Amino acid sequence: MARRRQIYEGKAKILYEGPEPGTLIQYFKDDATAFNAQKRGTINGKGVLNNRISEHVFTLLGNIGVPTHFIRRLNMREQLIRQVEIVPIEVIVRNVAAGTLSKRLGIEEGTQLPRTLIEYCYKDDALGDPLVAEEHIACFNWCSQDELHDIQDMAIRINDFMSGMFAAVGIRLVDFKLEFGRLYEGDFSRIILADEISPDGCRLWDMVSGEKLDKDRFRRDLGGEVEAYQEVARRLGLLPEGGDNAVLDLESHRKKKS
Ligand code: C5P
Repeated sequence: MARRRQIYEGKAKILYEGPEPGTLIQYFKDDATAFNAQKRGTINGKGVLNNRISEHVFTLLGNIGVPTHFIRRLNMREQLIRQVEIVPIEVIVRNVAAGTLSKRLGIEEGTQLPRTLIEYCYKDDALGDPLVAEEHIACFNWCSQDELHDIQDMAIRINDFMSGMFAAVGIRLVDFKLEFGRLYEGDFSRIILADEISPDGCRLWDMVSGEKLDKDRFRRDLGGEVEAYQEVARRLGLLPEGGDNAVLDLESHRKKKS
C-alpha cells in the first residue's frame, strides 16, 4: 500500500493529502506546546477530543451559515477538510481579559471587557507570532480589505454563537483564536474558517467555579488537562455521561486490555 503524502506537520496537527484534489486529511496529535513551543508535552487523548469537539463546533457553525473547511470526520483522530491557502494571521477574539492582554495592559484576569476585542497576530513561529495592527495587515498585504471585513464579520458571528453555545453548558467563553483560509473557485477566492476550534485555542472557564477547562491547565502546570478537555466534550454532549467508557488513549487502553 502506498504511503500517503504528508503536506505539513504543525505543533498539534498533521496534514496529509486528501482522497480528491482540493481535499486534505487533518490528523490531531496529542502533542501540546506553549509559549511558542518553549514548553512541550503530551496530553494523552487530546487529539481524539479536539477532533470531536472541533467537528461539533464547525458543523454547528456551518449550520448557521459560516463557511468552513470541514467536510466530515473520518475516524477518531482525522477529519476530511477542504484545502485552503491559510491567511497568515491569527485572529484573537476576547470577551474577558486574560493571558497576554492582561499582561500587556495590566488588566486583571477575569475583567469583563466593555466590548468584544479582536486582535491580530502575524503567523510566524520564528518571530513568536507578534501582535500586529490592521495597518500592518494592509501595508504588507497579508489579506485584502474585503477579506479582512469578511474575517471580522465571521469572527463576531462565531463569537456570538460560541458564547451562547458554551454559556448553555455553564462555560464562559473568555477568548479564542481563529484561522481563516482562501478557498479558490476558478478565478475567484473566498474566505472560509479553517484550522480547528478546541480547548487548545480557547479559554473556557466554568461559570460557577471559575475552573479552567482549556490549555491554560498545561501552560500553567495546573494538571488535569485530559479531564478538563473531557469535561468540555461531555458538557457539549459528545461523550457518554460518566465518560469512563470512552476510549481516548488507545495506547493505554490496549495495555490495560492485555
Ligand atoms: O496567549 P493569549 O492571551 O494571547 O491567547 C489568547 C487566546 O488565543 C487564547 O484562547 C489562546 O489559547 C489562543 N491562542 C492560540 N494560539 C496562539 C496564540 C493564542 O490558540 N498562537
